[in-house]
Amino acid sequence: MLKRYDMKKSEPEKICALCPAILTAENFTREHIIPNSIGGRKKTTGFICNTCNNDCGKKWESVLAEQFLWFSLATGVKRENGNSPNLSVKTVEGENLLLRHDGSMTAAKPTYSEQEENGKIKIKIQSRTKEEARKIVKGVVKKYPTVDFNESMDNFIVEQSYLESPLAMELQFGGPDGGRSMVKTAFALASEYGISNRKCEKAIDYLKDSEVTPPFGFCYTVDLVKNRPVDEIFHCVAIRGLPKFRKLLGYVEYFNMARILVELSDEYDGDDIYHSYSIDPTTGIEADIEVDFNVDIEILKAILDGDGMPLDKYNEAANYILPIVLKKNFDRERNRVVVDAAKLAFETLGVEPDQNLPQEKNQEFINILMEQIKPFIIANLKNKFH
Ligand SMILES: [Zn+2]
Repeated sequence: MLKRYDMKKSEPEKICALCPAILTAENFTREHIIPNSIGGRKKTTGFICNTCNNDCGKKWESVLAEQFLWFSLATGVKRENGNSPNLSVKTVEGENLLLRHDGSMTAAKPTYSEQEENGKIKIKIQSRTKEEARKIVKGVVKKYPTVDFNESMDNFIVEQSYLESPLAMELQFGGPDGGRSMVKTAFALASEYGISNRKCEKAIDYLKDSEVTPPFGFCYTVDLVKNRPVDEIFHCVAIRGLPKFRKLLGYVEYFNMARILVELSDEYDGDDIYHSYSIDPTTGIEADIEVDFNVDIEILKAILDGDGMPLDKYNEAANYILPIVLKKNFDRERNRVVVDAAKLAFETLGVEPDQNLPQEKNQEFINILMEQIKPFIIANLKNKFH
């Protein structure tokens, strides 16, 4: 249900930031300031019209979501609607895998092979889910009517295994669409805090015209985040009005790592203001990130001019975030494995999880549990000794 957007009589008419449309109840839309696909929650109104949101907003956002999909999956970003899609990944040794929204990995494709052995045909199927196995076995039954469907399904073994070879991962962000999504986020925050949409002319020019030079630079020369967390994931967006330099600046950082400085306006004549919004995308809880723009203006200008990405500083940022991501991933995987193992053990013993486990079944319960958890423990022990 769309809530009605009541324009107060005393408020001046608001115009869409991207087109001449006056914002009314008919073209109303609520915009996530940080895209929900990477875990943003807070929304703004009176920023852009529904048509512009459908025409550009969604396209920019879907590219951005794809750029950060590995991070979203590895850290377990919580979205309001649905799970993150699967992502094809490759190990350093070239094995193709699929990374799923719960952080687990499966083969990229099911495998099927037929082999003749002593006049018999032996069929081997490796599937990613039971449902997929069911479909494949149905096909086999059609081809070989003597095959018993139920018996074949009973023979399926669920196996867990862990990677021996690390994932090859690269982060690329920005670009024409991803960059526009990030600039739009800074612009949306300015709009949320009452800055007239028309006053962010640098952002507007860029968002509306594919030929315009991006008004942002990758920001690694200086660390603008004053209270950078050491073990939590965050996204943040902040704006700062610097009337002395006639600038309205924005800063956007995703996954503690993707950092840009945006020039929303270079004709700014408002007050010296500061606003920010930050969130832990793995919990949906707002974070308290402080962005400090009090840096030599020449340094900020150099960043906007594209000199803000010295390789050593960029690597420093990557070395800071990767252990946090891996730790998050490990914690989720441990929880997933234990919960799944317990479910299977209860199921096998025919006990409801909310019932007390009969004493005589204790040992069997522990056996099943350990059998399931073993691959996870062994994989992690191997990592420890390598
Ligand atoms: Zn519009």
